[in-house]
Amino acid sequence: MNPRQPPATPRSAPTTTRSISPQRLLVQTFPVDVMRWGRRFRENIQLLADPATGDAVIIDPGLESPALEAAIARRNLKIRAILNTHGHFDHIEANDHDRRRYKVKVHAHRADRHFYGKTKAPNKPDVLWDAEGELTFGSLKIRVLHVPGHSRGSVFFLARDLLFSGDTLFLENVGMTHGDGRATSGQMMRLQLEGIRKKILTLPPSVRVFPGHGPPTDIGHEKAHNPRLTGKRRRARPVTY
Ligand SMILES: [Zn+2]
Ligand SMILES: [Zn+2]
Repeated sequence: MNPRQPPATPRSAPTTTRSISPQRLLVQTFPVDVMRWGRRFRENIQLLADPATGDAVIIDPGLESPALEAAIARRNLKIRAILNTHGHFDHIEANDHDRRRYKVKVHAHRADRHFYGKTKAPNKPDVLWDAEGELTFGSLKIRVLHVPGHSRGSVFFLARDLLFSGDTLFLENVGMTHGDGRATSGQMMRLQLEGIRKKILTLPPSVRVFPGHGPPTDIGHEKAHNPRLTGKRRRARPVTY
């Protein structure tokens, strides 16, 4: 130390009340291979948990997953609910298995109710919502954002800065749409893109996005690079979900 230097101003004394930043929510993704029509659909089951309390939900249990069950047991999590982003088979097959195992209810949007009960497993939801809103499961608060298009009952789940996008928004792509007698596939696509622009791209760029298939992304990346959303004439990757 240079002795000619004036004495450093004393550092402020340590305070007794330290602001404790809230613990981040935890997301763990468990890919499962759902087989249908001789094809493999690799779907992402998402486990969302508050490490501070152990409260947790399972999003889109496409298939029974021993890895998911092991993670829940290892972290001693309390599963509070099962949530479906939409009613397609590759997102709901283990609804009943997980419902019985954790003794919780399955939640989904009413507009997708016709998809349930068509498969071997009794996978019907217990709670159907009609509107958007906030769900509370212990310490977890989850906003439901309804963006029809991929299906009429497709929703996003937003928990703090984590967004679960089902088959509506992927890394640099959006979900495929189908005509359903009331609207053409093209009309459903326009509805989907409008919903994403209004409700999703208006979220902060740092919000992380966990899709039902493929790798995670974030809002900033999708705003800049998703060819279906930027309007730039780059071809989108084909999407088959
Ligand atoms: Zn789907
Ligand atoms: Zn899917």
